Amino acid sequence: MADYKELWTSLDIDLEKHDQLCAVLPEFYGEIYMQQENRPEAMNYYNFVVSEIHGYRVQELADMRKDGKKVVGTFCVYVPDEIIVAANAASVGLCAGSEFWHPDGEKVVPRNTCPLVKAAAGALVGNTCPYFKSCDMLVGETTCDAKKKLWETFAEYTPIHVMNLSSMKREQDYINWQGEIKLFKERMEELTGVEVTAEKLSESTKLLNDKRRALQRLYETRKVANPPISGKDALLVTQIAFYDDPARFTQMTNQLCDELEKRIENGEGVFEKKAPRILITGIPMAIPNWKLHHIIETSGGAVVAEETCTGVKYFQNLVDESASTLEDHYKILADRYLKTNCACFTPNTSRIDDIVRLYKEYAADGVVYYTLPFCTTYAAEFKAVKEALAKENIPVINIESDYGLEDAGQIKTRLEAFFEMIGNK
Ligand code: SF4
Ligand code: SF4
Repeated sequence: MADYKELWTSLDIDLEKHDQLCAVLPEFYGEIYMQQENRPEAMNYYNFVVSEIHGYRVQELADMRKDGKKVVGTFCVYVPDEIIVAANAASVGLCAGSEFWHPDGEKVVPRNTCPLVKAAAGALVGNTCPYFKSCDMLVGETTCDAKKKLWETFAEYTPIHVMNLSSMKREQDYINWQGEIKLFKERMEELTGVEVTAEKLSESTKLLNDKRRALQRLYETRKVANPPISGKDALLVTQIAFYDDPARFTQMTNQLCDELEKRIENGEGVFEKKAPRILITGIPMAIPNWKLHHIIETSGGAVVAEETCTGVKYFQNLVDESASTLEDHYKILADRYLKTNCACFTPNTSRIDDIVRLYKEYAADGVVYYTLPFCTTYAAEFKAVKEALAKENIPVINIESDYGLEDAGQIKTRLEAFFEMIGNK
């Protein structure tokens, strides 16, 4: 990575601690990613993004801010990026996937909070994440209890807008979400001084749908008998989608798909032919949480899809592009965003339908159900998912694990037994 000390100093980063973080990532990434054989050439772009993770994009955001643009940080796929982009601002997804941030996080949130929330808290209060420090405003949402309380803590440090998401999907909840989207639009206008018009929303919808289409195209390539890209690489692409420039990301991902489609034509895959095909369902995996994919794919499995927010939940539903008035946009956005089936909702049976559908679409052989410690909603849904999958004769294994690597060996042993069981089915 080039020298960004001046940039980081201007963002008030704790340089000493930040150096510790930057020191471990290249080796970690090298072990997990660069040892894969037969990677697509076009993955070089994503390697570059990771190698410059706290540099290139952060510099771009700093340059945008110098030009008067605003940067907004989000934490959940229910927050409509269309509004942010229409207000001429940049959106960055800020979920944090490393235990590096936990000690700082534990200073402000209870120890028995999920690793994702603890890491996000630590990244902000420890002054070690330049993305947090680049944001002019954060956007929270009332999904789970841990996040709701996190926003109160964040409010002591930085401007934050919280969107009130209902826990149900009745008619009044759709109307409520339309109202929340309108309030968010007004808050964005206040922040940026830019009027969000119906035309600007149509443009931002098209831009973000193009990004979703590129990701849909990428995931299509994973449906073939021997996918031309590993699950780890596909996960990385989706993770980067949350903070890269959307137009550039779309272009680079379409280039990757061109290569992958050629590989399919040539019958070129990255897995052993007999590798069990795995659908992962559960909690989103923020960078650098590549642990489960890595364990699965170094234990003989092939991850072919993720029913997660760093998987199909992020892009499977496009936003209808026919809106012509602001009221149309609010309704269309509310309808589209509430199609996502997060465990924070009750009831949430549509998530089970999604898992079964994806299992069939991706011709999976088994499901790995992933939860983080202290995430009550996803852990609680395992029972209903397991019962529903049993009726369909779909094998499933529950893996609860934090960001540490101490349990990697134990998980590997359990997964190997699971793969053997699937193989003998
Ligand atoms: S899992 Fe739920 S709360 Fe987390 S990002 Fe996804 S939709 Fe939001
Ligand atoms: S839904 Fe679960 S994993 Fe996500 S922030 Fe809440 S407790 Fe953490």
